[in-house]
Amino acid sequence: MELLVEDATFVTMAEQAGPVEAMLVRDGRIAAIGPAGPVRAAADGAQVVRLDGATVIPGLIDAHCHVTDVGYLAAAADCSQPSAPGIEAIQARLRAAAGRTPAGAWVTGGGYAEYKLRENRNPTRADLDQAVPGRPAVLYHTSLHACVLNTAALREAGFADAEPDPPGGAFGRDSEGLLDGVVYEAPMFALFARNLHRELARMSDDAGGGLIGAAGRKLSSFGISSACDADLRRDTFAAFAAADAAGQLSQRIYGLIVHDQVDAVPRGRHSGRLATEAVKIWADGGMSSRTAAIHGRYPVPPYGSGILSFERDELTAMVRDFDARGYQVCVHAQGDRAIETVLDAYAAVLPAGGGNPRRHRIEHGGAMYPYLTERAAALGIVIASQPGFLSGLGDGFAAAFPDRYDELYAFASWQRAGITVAGSSDAPVITADPRIGIRDAIVRRTGDGRVLGPDQRLSAREALALYTTQAAIACHREDEIGSLEPGKLADFTVLDGNPLETEPERIGGLGVLATVLDGIPVYQSGSIFPGQ
Ligand SMILES: [Zn+2]
Repeated sequence: MELLVEDATFVTMAEQAGPVEAMLVRDGRIAAIGPAGPVRAAADGAQVVRLDGATVIPGLIDAHCHVTDVGYLAAAADCSQPSAPGIEAIQARLRAAAGRTPAGAWVTGGGYAEYKLRENRNPTRADLDQAVPGRPAVLYHTSLHACVLNTAALREAGFADAEPDPPGGAFGRDSEGLLDGVVYEAPMFALFARNLHRELARMSDDAGGGLIGAAGRKLSSFGISSACDADLRRDTFAAFAAADAAGQLSQRIYGLIVHDQVDAVPRGRHSGRLATEAVKIWADGGMSSRTAAIHGRYPVPPYGSGILSFERDELTAMVRDFDARGYQVCVHAQGDRAIETVLDAYAAVLPAGGGNPRRHRIEHGGAMYPYLTERAAALGIVIASQPGFLSGLGDGFAAAFPDRYDELYAFASWQRAGITVAGSSDAPVITADPRIGIRDAIVRRTGDGRVLGPDQRLSAREALALYTTQAAIACHREDEIGSLEPGKLADFTVLDGNPLETEPERIGGLGVLATVLDGIPVYQSGSIFPGQ
């Protein structure tokens, strides 16, 4: 099957590119791309697709997100604003969800933000009890840093009224000190993971595959054609494998296997769309929860210096083991103290002569200050980071790092030092939409409108590179994806404008017209690819 794509602006992200007017796709790969004459001459009975001046970019790559979580939330009742403007509307959504939720499963809603609700407060256990009495119901906050449980869910989760606040978290309470159903931070994260994995255990493999399919449809509507799943376990691998077998994977999935699950997940390239060749380790906590391990202390609650998950020697031993077994190692590290520990581990394991052949990574790298950047660059460490945090969480960073917020997520400094920086979302922590990440890498504006690290702003081309060429390198896939060049896979995204020539603040509003894998659209908003 051949496809000749014409009448489009092509942003190839290739090294040397002359004028590009047409692209020929054959058998799922780019057979030719360049001036119209020679590309047409190479076409042999191809179906011609004229794109009316739309822009074709390489398929976007999210180098770090949580695909299964996205799917789990996609299946929840939509309780977001403005679609559910008040608590009554949320109750109606949950009531409707209860009707289609099988017995034994929790009724689940998500997406609300109390400050956008008419009542300007969190719904409570009593509100949820009214909507869903007698069986567990959970309503996730859009930030995923809080949720609301009804009485049955509180009971099943084992949260009693006399419960003290757990470490790293808190319970909302009413005027009598009784639990009002709202759960914050650490116990919320544990509950989310527990609910997701219970849900997967309850589901058939096919239904698990369906959950992955739902996530994939969402991601492809954002133009994403490849994604690293940063939390791959035995049960989620089974769901990915089922989706793959059913032809329901709309992204190429590059799985990072959680370190204690490595022996439970088969390793390798299982198909063109599913691979498991990397390991994920957590070295510390998060920036917005102030659990990232830092030197010094946070000036805001819960104060302290964050949490380091492993001592240096223990982490080094883990990295050495996985490195020896041939895995790429990807370590979550946010605070400067954690990043230092991870770099110590990498320095102990990597060959003395330099080089990082397995492309071991740091995930996030929030407080990677200049002396750490220098070390990471010398070691050849790859960073997978999240520009979209700047608008989504940046004001919280500014509060937690009042003296150094301009040095956080220092994308320009990292690139100048020669580090490969891959773009990603960490969804569902923030939206998976890479248009937001690309915009934020350029403007670095927080929700409140302040610019964090004006010196760290990237050009539009550099920002797009994070999600294309650079992310491909972070996944060992630069020979196949990340740019539009002959011989590469025909993975591309069609936008209704050129992100390199759009006013940066408007990039988030560019429309995704189609997302194409192997030359076949997996998503399109209209019908630019006829007969699909
Ligand atoms: Zn993550």
